[in-house]
Amino acid sequence: MMDIGAGITTGTAELREATKMERIGVHSHITGLGLDDRLEPRPNSQGMVGQLRARKAAGVILRLLSPSSFSSSTVSAAPGLSGRAILLAGPPSTGKTAIARGMAATLGPDVPFTSITASEVYSLSMSKTEALTQALRRSIGVRIREEEEIVEGEVVEIVVERGITGSGKSGRVILKTTDMETVYEMGGKMIDEMTKEKVLAGDIISITKSSGRITKLGRSFSHSRDFSLLSPSTTFLPTPSGEILTRRTVTHTVSLHEIDIINSRTQGFLALFAGDTGEVAAPLRAQIDVKVGEWREEGKAELVTGVLFIDEVHMLDMECFSFLNRALEGELAPLVVMASNRGVARIRGTEMRGPHGLPPDLLDRLLIVATSKYLPDEVRQIIKIRCQEEDVEVGPDAEDLLVEIAGDAGMRYALGLIAVSQVVARKRVKSSGGGPEAVEVEDLRRAYGCFMDPGRSVQWLKEQQGSLLV
Ligand code: ATP
Repeated sequence: MMDIGAGITTGTAELREATKMERIGVHSHITGLGLDDRLEPRPNSQGMVGQLRARKAAGVILRLLSPSSFSSSTVSAAPGLSGRAILLAGPPSTGKTAIARGMAATLGPDVPFTSITASEVYSLSMSKTEALTQALRRSIGVRIREEEEIVEGEVVEIVVERGITGSGKSGRVILKTTDMETVYEMGGKMIDEMTKEKVLAGDIISITKSSGRITKLGRSFSHSRDFSLLSPSTTFLPTPSGEILTRRTVTHTVSLHEIDIINSRTQGFLALFAGDTGEVAAPLRAQIDVKVGEWREEGKAELVTGVLFIDEVHMLDMECFSFLNRALEGELAPLVVMASNRGVARIRGTEMRGPHGLPPDLLDRLLIVATSKYLPDEVRQIIKIRCQEEDVEVGPDAEDLLVEIAGDAGMRYALGLIAVSQVVARKRVKSSGGGPEAVEVEDLRRAYGCFMDPGRSVQWLKEQQGSLLV
């Protein structure tokens, strides 16, 4: 745990140990916005299909947030966006959440992305404004620089892998010492030098990761060109020849919320993993903000502006909207992206109505990105992508029927039928003694008969009037 004065710690060591698990989810096929370097959307790329204008707009917003967000992870607040937020507006299942996921995937690995559904702010364990504050602070990263002693150790193993790029001219050297393992990517000549005469197992060396320098018993082996360290958090900066470094700078990014929780006496850092963080006292947050300001001035830390996505934003109420209005103007505000599928609707907590269920003063701050209904061919491509993602084979006639169902009953319902009809198909194949397990029309019809879509459910409710409790 890094203690950075005034008893405030970042707990980066513990956080680094936390691992993330990914599984097949409704948006797991989305790996980016599918844009080229000029921010032009490709018709079908990175899991994204269609919605060309909305995807391009999302890309422009990310470019505003960070001119380099498409090539590196360095993100800084964009003056053009300060005090403003984005609204993705469009009918249900038109990819608003998918676009937000694409934005998240486009941002660098240490740029925070937080996703909440507006109704999550209503809880008994904390106030609505505290829930929003936590979500906002989760979306601001603090990239902290720390100095580390450079390790020195005995070389225990050198593993050389040649030609991994296919050209045969480059490769990797994995250098294991008693203290650490370092992976270098380098040209064939460098590999030869390294393996032929420079460092051998049993030598005592010190390694300077940031400079790429290996120093062996007073003899210096310096790589000034032709290789870079593979570790994404380490930059390769050649140092003047002959200099032997004893310390190096490493960086880690934690969110403001994580710093809050780690320093909250009542919670402690384990609360982060339990997900039950409770409320954080306002004076502690103020103290942390002051401290972070000092680190920035001292060059020890920089802020990383992340993204907070609020789905179904019309579920927030007037109190939350007022709070957000103020929060957007704060110095420590992330980019807030909201989504709503509502037209003119009641503004929660009032008798007023407003476009997308939002009050006029918040609407005033929004850049609105519209999504529209899909063409049948786009629906077909999305269905194909999902079948691949879920590893389900669907026959051509069944695929036609799925496209039709998506048109009538909605894309989300049709996508939900893929896994169910696979179960039905497997059962059919098993009971008929084997054969190909591809989903056929009859499987799909059976699955369709088992589960109602929203339209049929409304119809059924009408027919049941009088027999259900109200
Ligand atoms: P709602 O208003 O109901 O919340 P939404 O507009 O957020 O809907 P999504 O949840 O993004 O819609 O889309 C429904 C499903 O379709 C998801 O599985 C999503 O990943 C997929 N999908 C939607 N649009 C696209 C797209 N353009 N390309 C690929 N997949 C998409």
